[in-house]
Amino acid sequence: MTQPRPPPPTHSSASKPRPWSLRTQIAVVFGSLVALVAMLLSLAFGELLKLQIQHEAAASLHTVAHNASKALANGLFERSRLVQVMASSQHLWKNGLDTPDVTALLQRLQATQPHSLWIGVADAQGIVQTDSNHLLQGKSVSDRPWFQAGLKDVYVGDVHPAERLEKMLPPSANGEPLRFVDFSAPIRQQGQPVGVLGIQSSWDWARDAIEDLRPVYADQAQIALFVFNRQGRLIYAPQGQLARFMALDQALPATEGPSTSATDSMNTPGQAALAHWKDADAPFLTAVTTLPARSLASDLGWYVVARQPTQTAFAAANSVVLQALFGGIAAAMLAALIAWLAARRLSEDLNSLSQAALYIEAGMPGAVVPQTHSTREVQRLSSTLGHMTRRLLAMNEAMEETVRQRTLELQHANLELSHLASSDPLTGLLNRRGFETQLSYALALARRSGRPLSVISLDVDHFKRVNDNHGHEVGDNVLRSLGGQLKERLRSSDVVARLGGEEFMVLLPDTALDKALETALQLLASVQAYPEPRVGRITVSAGLSALRPGEEDAAAMLRRSDEALYAAKAAGRNCAQVLA
Ligand code: GH3
Ligand code: MG
Ligand code: MG
Repeated sequence: MTQPRPPPPTHSSASKPRPWSLRTQIAVVFGSLVALVAMLLSLAFGELLKLQIQHEAAASLHTVAHNASKALANGLFERSRLVQVMASSQHLWKNGLDTPDVTALLQRLQATQPHSLWIGVADAQGIVQTDSNHLLQGKSVSDRPWFQAGLKDVYVGDVHPAERLEKMLPPSANGEPLRFVDFSAPIRQQGQPVGVLGIQSSWDWARDAIEDLRPVYADQAQIALFVFNRQGRLIYAPQGQLARFMALDQALPATEGPSTSATDSMNTPGQAALAHWKDADAPFLTAVTTLPARSLASDLGWYVVARQPTQTAFAAANSVVLQALFGGIAAAMLAALIAWLAARRLSEDLNSLSQAALYIEAGMPGAVVPQTHSTREVQRLSSTLGHMTRRLLAMNEAMEETVRQRTLELQHANLELSHLASSDPLTGLLNRRGFETQLSYALALARRSGRPLSVISLDVDHFKRVNDNHGHEVGDNVLRSLGGQLKERLRSSDVVARLGGEEFMVLLPDTALDKALETALQLLASVQAYPEPRVGRITVSAGLSALRPGEEDAAAMLRRSDEALYAAKAAGRNCAQVLA
């Protein structure tokens, strides 16, 4: 039953795009999922790390500002203490404000404190009694804030230009105008102020204090320190930049973001925020600290501010997000590769199953479904397919066997049918139909070979009487016995048929008319010689003819033999007539 089939299609039609392999799909899906998760995670962690790093940057910037702040506060406090201690040293002043001892002490003090540019003592009226470098001796300082305030209590004055002393003192090292911070304290005798001790310190002191404290990485990290006074005006900027910032009118910077008040948000430990400065467009990470004053007198309300360019401060944070992102992408690619490799066995198994199915469909001998083991599903699929294929093949085999059997039976039945259709049931000889088949075959043979073909028409004489006298059944027996006799007497190559009633026809291939006549006469003699039991002697008449050259069919020959038979009957029966 296996029908020839076109070769099995190994790929889908060209119009449809070929779908991705299972393995590619698994790798792509897995890779994309991991990429998505890794990207989300790395971005989230990156942002967390970024916040952490920004917080740390802010904290360290704040620490720098705070340390500078403390150094300045300490410096102010110590100087104010020095002035206070000296002014209240009664034994120093007991011989007057301008004794050589006092002058010598002032000079020694200035020598040990290079930033103290002027140290002097004024009397209660503001006239300088003695000073370390004899610049103002005998001059009045009564209009100076340090004198006026110092007469009452310890005083620390905010930064101010040098004014009168400027012209008397050598210019500052960095070329900036000289500026002072003043310290003063009252000199009292019996509870009454008799004078004021004053120190005018160069503002360079602040620069040195700040520079000393600047961390070693400050330059690389581009950290710069500034000091603003209580009113928010700039009083200190990094080396050589004060004039530039003053020209820009740089005030205490206000910060952006949630914390609007610079002083509030940025003074809390660890706090720094973004703020705009007038020298650049981009904001700076800015930490503002107030001076942690150690005494009321030394509390000048300064703000020490540290700033760092955002790019530098957050450089590590930005790179950490990028690194996390690259790490995530690398992890995703690795995951896709692992999925690709892991899916190999599954993909190979499915391929081998489909290959086997193609071979089985094409009827390749010995093709079987292989047992695959990559996954439980594939294992079950392969064993089910194998089982199903074996059953289908067995069913197919059984069906083919049944069909073979039925075909044989049918052929046999057909043979029998055709035999029945062509034979005479009474005598077992050929009937008219069977005779005609043989006749056309013999005719074709004779015409091709050019060899003779003769026929004998036989008819029982007065058969009606047999029936009438002995009954139809006896008549049948006579016909049967006659048929057997004819068959027996003739050659196997000759054809005998009962055409109907008591008429018989003999076809003699390869036999000329004379030989046929001989045969006919022998037949007549033989019939006559053996009387039928109960019936007695039986005779037959015969008419003979032969195929004439050039005759296309046998009709004429048969007609002639029929005519010859009539002639034989007419001639008295039990004889043979020939119509050539
Ligand atoms: P003739 O010598 O002129 O041939 O005389 P006849 O009686 O043989 O010829 P006729 O044609 O007059 O009669 C033929 C008879 O053959 C008639 C019929 O009863 C008989 N017959 C025909 N077929 C059968 C048959 O199958 N069985 C039997 N028992 N008789 C048959
Ligand atoms: Mg007859
Ligand atoms: Mg007859």
